[in-house]
Amino acid sequence: MKSLQPYRNDSEAMHSHIAREFHLATGHELPASTPVEIEKFSGSQFRGGRVKAIEQLQKIDPVRYGRTRNFVSGDVTKLSPWLRHGALSLTEVRDAALSKVQQASQAEKLIAELGWRDYWQRVRAARPEGVWYDFETPAARHRGQVIDYLPDTVAHGETGLDCIDAFCKKLTHDGWLHNHERMWLASWLVHTRKVTWRVGAAWFLQHLLDADPASNNFSWQWVAGTFSSKPYIFNRENLERFTAGIYCETCPALGHCDFEGTYEQLNEKLFMNDSDEREMRLTIPPVVSWDSSDVPDESLVWMTLDSLSVCSPAKLRFPESPAIFVFDQHWLSDELPSYKRIAFICECLADLPDVEIWFGDTASILQERARANKADAISVANTSCPAVRRVVDRLSSTTSVVPLEWPSFCDASKVKDLGRFSRYWNKVSKTALRPTFADDRF
Ligand SMILES: Cc1cc2nc3c(=O)[nH]c(=O)nc-3n(C[C@H](O)[C@H](O)[C@H](O)COP(=O)(O)OP(=O)(O)OC[C@H]3O[C@@H](n4cnc5c(N)ncnc54)[C@H](O)[C@@H]3O)c2cc1C
Repeated sequence: MKSLQPYRNDSEAMHSHIAREFHLATGHELPASTPVEIEKFSGSQFRGGRVKAIEQLQKIDPVRYGRTRNFVSGDVTKLSPWLRHGALSLTEVRDAALSKVQQASQAEKLIAELGWRDYWQRVRAARPEGVWYDFETPAARHRGQVIDYLPDTVAHGETGLDCIDAFCKKLTHDGWLHNHERMWLASWLVHTRKVTWRVGAAWFLQHLLDADPASNNFSWQWVAGTFSSKPYIFNRENLERFTAGIYCETCPALGHCDFEGTYEQLNEKLFMNDSDEREMRLTIPPVVSWDSSDVPDESLVWMTLDSLSVCSPAKLRFPESPAIFVFDQHWLSDELPSYKRIAFICECLADLPDVEIWFGDTASILQERARANKADAISVANTSCPAVRRVVDRLSSTTSVVPLEWPSFCDASKVKDLGRFSRYWNKVSKTALRPTFADDRF
């Protein structure tokens, strides 16, 4: 596919172009061939690209965030799709938050949530296999049989529970849910419907605009109790409080739904009483960051799903060099991203001057483009993504791939164990609450 820049201001033309090119390249009919899908995305509050990201960033209010973030109507930032794709960096959001308060402590709640993103990325860099495997034995054993498929009633949002149905539909329609909605939906699916967390995680990855295997899958494990000290559950009182009761008011299941009762009663209903205390404390030693000492004088720039903007450190370092993005065939078939996500990515790419867009096997395409451009090196923004590291390994005999660092969000040199967020945050929070030094800013 040629650069998407010409379509920047004509979203309808861009959508038909994407649909046609995807079909030609992959043989897959994107749902966007239907006007309904295009309209759904065109009406989305989340449009890809750096310009929209900055507009959204300007709206953040860290003080209100701290007071209201747990309420579904609360003043959360809704920055996740841009952060996930590198249209914004964590340091940029942290600095914007600090610039809006008198004391750093007033922005601490928001900065700690950015810290969760940083933390999950570090965990994935240290234990990439943990994205799909239990970190710990489950903190509690379920009563009843666990299933490993997504029930149709869930996929279609027809479970008969008004809250859950609304969350399922929001997920597939909007591609974004409030954090509390994600927690409730994941908890209900894993603990009440006893669907294994991997199935739920894969379902979210398919539909979320901010789909991120680290943030998503580790959060599912946190809910499931395979990466936390206890499983996350909730009752109706909790849901009513943070939703202002909007779902319960008219729900046909009111009074006899899955969430009635105290936490003790729900624990008794859902879990066996025989769970032993875990013998081992989970420890995850951090890994040394990817070595980026030898930066070449010239280089191609590889834009990955983590770095789709001019603020990619690789793009910043080599602004004039050819930039390449590949819709990787394995990623497309493994994750089955929704049309909304593809369109969001394309909008990010359309914001970039002259990026070549390819479909297929990433390593082969990069190798071919390096040869065609007579380039010895390819630069890429540092990432914890194991697929990127695998491509780098495959290219190692012919082309060197050089990672370039994002401005650092915190000083993690004292972190020795990533087994729990609290341990990590204890070591880094002081430095995370400081603004980025002027010479480390982009
Ligand atoms: C089951 C489940 C699945 C999730 N899947 C994803 C996912 O695929 N991608 C994703 O980015 N987040 C995921 N989250 C984390 C969180 O729900 C979203 O980041 C957040 O709701 C996005 O909304 P926001 O931008 O308004 O967040 P805000 O509350 O405004 O936070 C600001 C930013 O901090 C980061 N952040 C906040 N909370 C978390 C968190 N718990 N973990 C990691 N980063 C966080 C995000 O980048 C977010 O944009 C998941 C949470 C759960 C419980």
